[in-house]
Amino acid sequence: MPTYGERTLTFVRGEGAYLFDATGRRFLDFGAGIAVTSIGHSNPIMVKALQEQAATVMHTSNLYLIPGQVKAAERLCANSFADVVFFGNSGAEACEGVIKVARKYQAHNGHPERYRMITVEGAFHGRTLATIAAGGSAKHLEGFGPPTEGFDQVPFGNMNALRNAITGETAGVLIEPIQGEGGIRPMDLDYLRDVRKACDEFGILMCVDEVQSGVGRTGKLFAHEWAGITPDVLASAKGLGGGMPVGAVLATKEAAAGMVAGTHGSTYGGNPMSMAAVNAVLDVVLADGFLDSVQDIAAYLREKAEGLVAKHPTVFKSVRGAGLMLGFVAGPPNGEIVAAATENGLLTVPAGDNVVRMLPPLTIGRAEVDEAIAILDKTAAAIATA
Ligand SMILES: *Cc1c(COP(=O)(O)O)cnc(C)c1O
Repeated sequence: MPTYGERTLTFVRGEGAYLFDATGRRFLDFGAGIAVTSIGHSNPIMVKALQEQAATVMHTSNLYLIPGQVKAAERLCANSFADVVFFGNSGAEACEGVIKVARKYQAHNGHPERYRMITVEGAFHGRTLATIAAGGSAKHLEGFGPPTEGFDQVPFGNMNALRNAITGETAGVLIEPIQGEGGIRPMDLDYLRDVRKACDEFGILMCVDEVQSGVGRTGKLFAHEWAGITPDVLASAKGLGGGMPVGAVLATKEAAAGMVAGTHGSTYGGNPMSMAAVNAVLDVVLADGFLDSVQDIAAYLREKAEGLVAKHPTVFKSVRGAGLMLGFVAGPPNGEIVAAATENGLLTVPAGDNVVRMLPPLTIGRAEVDEAIAILDKTAAAIATA
């Protein structure tokens, strides 16, 4: 179905932070397949893990214990707030899982009437029926019938509105610590702390959607860590699989107490291939000093990006975000900048609020940052004088 509109570029090969088209033309990939190829294209660690797994066993189903799944879950739990993990296949599916955990938590604790989730304007949680209702975008809901019941949306960053939206039917709050599709809009760290407090006060679950912001993207394993808080439930995907379709629901054992045998499932979720990919990503991201190195290169990129804002203020009005999840608020239409940068050999991704997103692989170095900045400089200069 032509749900993506027309596309002109095709890539036949990837290597590190670069993609190549059929003519051999090289593009610096600061989109990373929308924050997915976290350890770069064709990372040798990933290639070896997948080749070995494919040659051993690709799929068995969750009727049987999958050692790679146990290993991945143990590593995620050892390095986060979580006690338990459920693996699925995408971000939307992870968000659906989060919503189910929150509803089940309340039902399990004697409150089946608490089924509603509070979400934030500008949110994006996926394209399934429940997640378009959660996201609340009129464009995404149009023509797909009555929105799935049980979502209440509040204005961005407004804690009073969020507290006022909590009722006797609320199961939890679902928020992105940094809105991705909404335009790299970071939530104030104090706001995140206040959401945590409100959730505790009312006995509802704090659920974070870290599908885009997680797995090292901001220089911590998960972005909520910057606020010094822990959520009850978390959705992960995108960078988690590094290119294999994987999603995960992470939760405390209290939050997931109702998720007993038979309550949720997936045929593919956590299969040996996707778990080989997750473990390869974790081999890189959890290695000693890696997240520190992400913070270092992110600070370097941020400084250079601020320099572009100072130099081309009509094209790049400001830069925002955290770590290697940065967005320029654009002057001209963001699509124009993205297209011109692509023409000059740099891939970026448009986002809401007229933002141009940079989501490079976490493994980039200074040379790649310098190259990206030089291309954006040239691009902005041409646009500013056009
Ligand atoms: C991309 C994204 C999703 C949806 O993930 P899919 O894998 O496309 O289903 C959900 N939440 C956030 C924050 C995302 O960035």
